[in-house]
Amino acid sequence: KNKIALRNVSRVFTNAAGEKIEALRDVNLEVEDEFAPDGRDIGEFRVLLGPSGCGKSTILRLIAGLDFPTKGEVLMNGQPVTGPGSDRGMVFQKYTSFAWLTVSKNIEYGLSIKGTPPAERKEIVSHLIDAVGLRGFENAYPHTLSGGMQQRVAIARSLAVRPQVLLMDEPFGALDAQTRNEMQDLLLRIWDETAATVLFVTHDVAEAVFLADRMYIVSSRPGTIVEEIPVPFGRP
Ligand code: ADP
Ligand code: ADP
Repeated sequence: KNKIALRNVSRVFTNAAGEKIEALRDVNLEVEDEFAPDGRDIGEFRVLLGPSGCGKSTILRLIAGLDFPTKGEVLMNGQPVTGPGSDRGMVFQKYTSFAWLTVSKNIEYGLSIKGTPPAERKEIVSHLIDAVGLRGFENAYPHTLSGGMQQRVAIARSLAVRPQVLLMDEPFGALDAQTRNEMQDLLLRIWDETAATVLFVTHDVAEAVFLADRMYIVSSRPGTIVEEIPVPFGRP
């Protein structure tokens, strides 16, 4: 069964000067649910790799339901995407957390919206605080933390509601090299506990090869997926 499917998707924008910008043309993408030999539902880690401006963010935004195709269809579990939903979490490069909420309240936010009972919320938040290494920072505000710590909040926040799909748009692009490596390790460790599909956007080849179990190469003008590459080397 297809978790995510894009069929012949095109997206044409009109810029401020009234010119048409063909961001995507005939994008086809199918992400299927995968299972281990013992029948366990396992996660998929898919990476969209391509140069800046080739349409990677646009692809994620279409799946997130934040934008809609000019042509073609975008499906989640066989159903057309009509808007954002808690089955799809999103992590951006910056400003992914609410500045006016503490670390704990940020992580708890989606659970409150969903109406998860307080005791259960507390337990999930506490587990995630440990999982992403934010113990001791529960009552801090995100803007007082380093970039890496802020992305820990963002990851915990998006995972709290157990999304089927986690959409990550260059989440580590603004971090220094060492912090980026730490965050890549952390993400793989946490993701391994879930059966979530991650769709991760980057223009960094090394990052893509390190994280992906399968890469989609996106080319520009107009943006389209030109190649799908399995990465069978296994992770550390
Ligand atoms: P649209 O109504 O075409 O979907 P938006 O409302 O998202 O566009 O953006 C309004 C305007 O801002 C666009 O017409 C465009 O000129 C500009 N814009 C927004 N995002 C971008 C981007 N990523 N690259 C270039 N221009 C952009
Ligand atoms: P990437 O994520 O690969 O850097 P984007 O998906 O952000 O690429 O953008 C793809 C192309 O579409 C770029 O040329 C960008 O300027 C254009 N674009 C994206 N959003 C808009 C918008 N809202 N209005 C006009 N042009 C846009």
